[in-house]
Amino acid sequence: MYVEICREIERKIKDAEMVLVGIGKELDTVQKKEQEPVQDSKSYIMGKILKNQEDSAQEFYEKCDFVYKKIHKKIQNPALMNLAGLLEGKNYFIISTNIDECLYCSGFRKERVLTPCGRETLLQCSSNCNDTVWEAEPYFQQIFRDGMMVKDEERKLPVCPACGKTAVFNILRAGEEETYCEQGYLADWERYKKWLSGTLNRKILLLDLGTDFYQPQLIRWAFERTVMLNQKAYLIRIHETLANIPKELTERAVSFFVNSRELFEQWRL
Ligand SMILES: [Zn+2]
Repeated sequence: MYVEICREIERKIKDAEMVLVGIGKELDTVQKKEQEPVQDSKSYIMGKILKNQEDSAQEFYEKCDFVYKKIHKKIQNPALMNLAGLLEGKNYFIISTNIDECLYCSGFRKERVLTPCGRETLLQCSSNCNDTVWEAEPYFQQIFRDGMMVKDEERKLPVCPACGKTAVFNILRAGEEETYCEQGYLADWERYKKWLSGTLNRKILLLDLGTDFYQPQLIRWAFERTVMLNQKAYLIRIHETLANIPKELTERAVSFFVNSRELFEQWRL
C-alpha cells in the first residue's frame, strides 16, 4: 500500500528546488507505537509533570545510556536514515520538535538540522543560573568505560561549574520552560531563518512527518502558513491519525493517513 505514496513523495522531492522537513513524534527513536498522540497541550503537560516527579538519578543514568548508544550507533533509526538518503543532493532543512540525537546521527547534514526543544548531547544547569550549555561528551567519558557504564559507586551526577547545582540535559520539559536554556539551539535557529528567507517564491516542498499538536507553532502551523503565502509551495502531511489539512490549502497540499515511521522504515525494501 505504501508504494504509491513513496513514488508520489519521490516525484515531489525531485520536482522541488528546496525541501523543508518537519519531524514529529511518530519518527522519534523512543516512540512506542501504542503511545497516544498529543491532542492538546494540557494533557501533555500534566503527563510530563507527573513524570518529572518520579525523576531520579537512576532515570538520568538510563538516559545517558540511551544517548550514548545512539552516538555510538548501537541504537539507530532506520526511518531517519532512509529519509536522509532520499534527500541527498537536495537543498533541504530539517526542523524537529523531538529531542533525539538520531537526528544528528542518521546522515543529515548537521548544519541543516534544528531541534528547538533541546539536544541530548548538551548539559545545562538545572536552574539555568548563567544561561549556558556545554557538551555532555567529557561527562560521558567519565561514566563510560569500554562502552559500559561504570559501577554506581564510581560515578557522580554532573554539576553546574558556575553554581554547583546538579546539571541536567538541555531539553525542554513541560512545566520547566523557565529553566530551559535556549542557547543550545539559537545559532541553528538563525541559520534556519536565513534558509527560510531564501525560500520566497521558490518551488519548495514541505514534508510534515508525524507531527501531532505538541508545539504546533514550530512545524504544523508554520508549514501551513508558508503554503498559504508562497504560491509555489506544496505540503505533504503524513500521520497515522492527524494528517488532516485545512480546506483552504487542499489545492497545494495532500495528506496521507499512514504511520510515517513505518512508511520510511520500509522505503527501500
Ligand atoms: Zn548553575
